[in-house]
Amino acid sequence: MRHLPLFFLAAVSALAATLVLLGAPAAYTPAPAKLSLSPSTQIWQETVNDRTQYLRTSISAYPWAEQLRQRTDNDDDQEAGVPDRSGSPPSEPIFIRNPSGPVDCSQMPCAALTFDDGPVPHTREVLEALAEVDARASFFMTGQMAVNYPEIVAEVADAGHEVGNHGWSHTDFTDLSDGQLRSELDRTADAIEQAAGIRPGMARPPYGTLDSRVREVSGLPLIIWDTDSRDWQHKSAAKTRERVMDGVSPGDIVLLHDLERSTAEAVPLILQDLLAEGYHLVTVSEILGHPGEPGQVYRKGQSPGS
Ligand SMILES: [Zn+2]
Repeated sequence: MRHLPLFFLAAVSALAATLVLLGAPAAYTPAPAKLSLSPSTQIWQETVNDRTQYLRTSISAYPWAEQLRQRTDNDDDQEAGVPDRSGSPPSEPIFIRNPSGPVDCSQMPCAALTFDDGPVPHTREVLEALAEVDARASFFMTGQMAVNYPEIVAEVADAGHEVGNHGWSHTDFTDLSDGQLRSELDRTADAIEQAAGIRPGMARPPYGTLDSRVREVSGLPLIIWDTDSRDWQHKSAAKTRERVMDGVSPGDIVLLHDLERSTAEAVPLILQDLLAEGYHLVTVSEILGHPGEPGQVYRKGQSPGS
């Protein structure tokens, strides 16, 4: 009986050795943990499913939605044939500088308004409101919108605003393989380049969701936000204005969606309020004070005294 534990140990060892020989995994490797983000971003992640459903509904209202759906289905079929461009050198990013002159956000209060998920026809109303007060902003575009409204992509860039990459189909980047993620970013950059002659130098992951793999594979600065208007959820111009003005502080990157009609209505009011409080309205790279490092995650920009 005293030899039984020894025998048992030997039997277990033999079994383990057999499993290794049969190619069983030697150790369990956990998936990389998602980065810990600000509370507002965590709330955002919890609503990813609502948001995805909402985007599908919103996009289906556009006349080209059926064509887009068919195109996306075909793209899925061709997914295996997407070339892996991991070996090719990254495209040289081009940054748009503020045509009204450099703004030093370390010396004066700045806010960077960011508009996601467009462009759409009423993005032009946002452009008009920004032009009225000579304000600059950043637009994180999806490829599927950029190919449908290339002339608006060009109008955004020509007006001196920053254009960022928001992926092709607004899929959570952490759900994509390395090849799929590169494809989402490359195809979007190609669509923007074809429309406006520039390649985005920064990206915003849909839903603000990212992990260490996304940071590495994207090869671009990843821009999150400080003030969340939650405009897509309440769809109220008054609430959008209220949430931005209640939440904003110098150096903030503000999340808005030009996909929302109510947001286009809110922008002139938000601009009026921010200017009255002494804010300078700049692009993301201006509020950071630099173009950003590939793979780094940015939220708060510079502000006086920071
Ligand atoms: Zn988005």
